[in-house]
Amino acid sequence: MKVLVINCGSSSLKYQLINMENEEVLAKGICERIGIEGSFLKHQPGEGDKVTIEKPMPTHTEAIQSVVEALTDSNHGVIKNMSEINAVGHRVVHAGEKFATSVVINDAVEAALNECIELAPLHNPPNIIGIEACKKIMPGVPMVGVFDTAFHQTMPKEAYIYALPYETYEKYKVRRYGFHGTSHKFVSEAAAEFLGKPLSELKIVTCHLGNGASVAAVKNGKSIDTSMGFTPLEGLVMGTRSGDLDPAIVTFLQDKENLTSEGVNNLLNKKSGVLGISKLSSDFRDIEQAAEKGDKNAQLALDVYTYRVKKYIGSYIAAMNGADVIVFTAGLGENSASTREAICKDMDFLGIKIDPERNNVRGKLAEVSAEGSKVKVLVVPTNEELMIARDTKTLLNNK
Ligand code: AMP
Repeated sequence: MKVLVINCGSSSLKYQLINMENEEVLAKGICERIGIEGSFLKHQPGEGDKVTIEKPMPTHTEAIQSVVEALTDSNHGVIKNMSEINAVGHRVVHAGEKFATSVVINDAVEAALNECIELAPLHNPPNIIGIEACKKIMPGVPMVGVFDTAFHQTMPKEAYIYALPYETYEKYKVRRYGFHGTSHKFVSEAAAEFLGKPLSELKIVTCHLGNGASVAAVKNGKSIDTSMGFTPLEGLVMGTRSGDLDPAIVTFLQDKENLTSEGVNNLLNKKSGVLGISKLSSDFRDIEQAAEKGDKNAQLALDVYTYRVKKYIGSYIAAMNGADVIVFTAGLGENSASTREAICKDMDFLGIKIDPERNNVRGKLAEVSAEGSKVKVLVVPTNEELMIARDTKTLLNNK
């Protein structure tokens, strides 16, 4: 079975074609500047050279058409014709309370996703447009929706209800949803497999530290809490997002800086985080370099960042009455040994001890905790596309 994985943004579309017999990535790529002048597609067949194809893509339909053409091209294609694509797996950001697992997409599912638009006004519309575009270009090919929120639907009520008037939940569904669920699920499963232990017997804290970042408490394979909330703004300090703050700061800044709700939203989502503190960059590579050269704000940004992750790990160990494993994943979690070390420093009271030599790894599955550390610390590269393809295969084979 060959599964095409689609991740649609408002002006971009990432794809991978995966052969599920051996989970090999046959090709991958990205369409950029959809709906904008100068659109192009970057396509990479397997381990082959990348090609850039410039062509107008006024809508996502033309983008999907271009993906199919690239995949079937006589030079850089990897399949003979479109009929070799057996299924499509779509990443969808928000499924609200409607879906706790991935689902086969039909009209009722699409209607439910449309109802979730007000919860994710920036993300769900392009995801739905991607589904529609695939229906047009590949009629009859079965499609599966895989949701960022689904894995966290197992959270108990005390973890997802905010201390607001209860009507805000009843009327508007204001609650913690959590995101990055596909990644938290993937790395917790991979960690259990690596350790040769059943997931159903493990308490794992998964730290997805990328440009967006979140921590999850995964107890016996189920998410029982996570740091992102009603939106992906809550929780950890991120590249440009503030994460947790005193909610009174919002109205204080609106008054002081004469900001509209859109203005303050922009400040919290786009101008805050390590970019805001460092005044330099949202990219940790830039910040780490500047800190090494003695830039005080860059060092402060790193300190605030790691302290917040440390606090979340501690609180999730309390929530689960212990932890067997801490997993680091995503851009920073997989690549930055110094960040992992700073987070785990002085956590020996909780039984967490990193081995500096083992920790000197990048982007590969490895144990980095010291011999005798009560809690294992692992680096586990995430692979959301593969998780989407696996769910797609499982659901369609079980139909
Ligand atoms: P992601 O969203 O998972 O693609 O992660 C992107 C983030 O990972 C960016 O903020 C990068 O700065 C960070 N990152 C990637 N590689 C490294 C590295 N070698 N050292 C430090 N940070 C890195």
